[in-house]
Amino acid sequence: MSLLVVGSVALDSVETPFDKVEAALGGSATYISLAASYFSAPVELVGVVGDDFPKQYTEMLERHNVDLEGLQIIKGEKTFRWGGKYHYDLNVRDTLFTELNAFENFNPVLPDRYKKSRYICLGNIDPILQMRVLEQVSDPQFVVCDTMNLWINLMKLDLLKLLKKVHVFILNDSEARMLTEEPNLIKAAKLIRQMGPEILIIKKGEHGAMLFTNDTIFSAPAYPMEIIFDPTGAGDSFAGGFTGYLHKTRDLSPENIKRAVIYGSTMASFCVEKFSTKGLEDLSYLQIQDRFREFRKISSFNETD
Ligand code: AMP
Repeated sequence: MSLLVVGSVALDSVETPFDKVEAALGGSATYISLAASYFSAPVELVGVVGDDFPKQYTEMLERHNVDLEGLQIIKGEKTFRWGGKYHYDLNVRDTLFTELNAFENFNPVLPDRYKKSRYICLGNIDPILQMRVLEQVSDPQFVVCDTMNLWINLMKLDLLKLLKKVHVFILNDSEARMLTEEPNLIKAAKLIRQMGPEILIIKKGEHGAMLFTNDTIFSAPAYPMEIIFDPTGAGDSFAGGFTGYLHKTRDLSPENIKRAVIYGSTMASFCVEKFSTKGLEDLSYLQIQDRFREFRKISSFNETD
């Protein structure tokens, strides 16, 4: 059974201190699907675009075995557009604009065969839409959910309702603090896990990620990189690598979940090396394995000589 992904499919305009792109491929569902496709293709994508969405992008996704039957193309509408600007501290970004366009009236309708999916990754979109997708799945067994500050600010109650149905919740450190109004991340993690998700992952940008379960706190480093061209999509690529690996292995043991966190970080590190989705387009499984092993080298040590 395939992995089901819902989220935004976007045309992004991104500016960093190093370069600038206009209307490049982006969106949470796009990054998640591409990252997951290296582990568990086909990935079933649910989303919406306008009829301005370039054919070369759908072809590229199809080459990665992303099933696009669930991608609605709305005639006469434009694709969702997002603009962001990064500063020298690449952990800080300003949203320049968000044009919902085709997203404004999006009603996700799952093709029948998608409804049997057991593993679901709810990428960052309005929590009401995430819930609408989840409600159409007959027997969801492993639900991973991402979000962003916008929904915590505007739709907290809907998000809290959704969290009761989610197994893994992924958000970044400032979002965790915002959701709980608790500055200490360990205390915030406890509070979020009481909201529903058994497993919580708090991303800390270039400082890695923390995994919280009932009996574990696991701290994963970020891959030390000299070149970060475009951090856009790092969080989504993390979610895609994490969920894709767990879907492939069907092993939800604590040790395998830690490995999935490292695979998530691995895919995020490839994502940021190039603009837009380019860093995820031409990887080999061998490259992914090599970088996964590098993570062990940078984070393991012997207690004595
Ligand atoms: P990330 O860098 O992982 O937070 O994800 C960036 C992606 O999120 C970009 O490609 C955007 O197109 C997409 N995005 C930005 N704002 C929104 C929003 N309000 N809803 C859905 N997707 C968004």
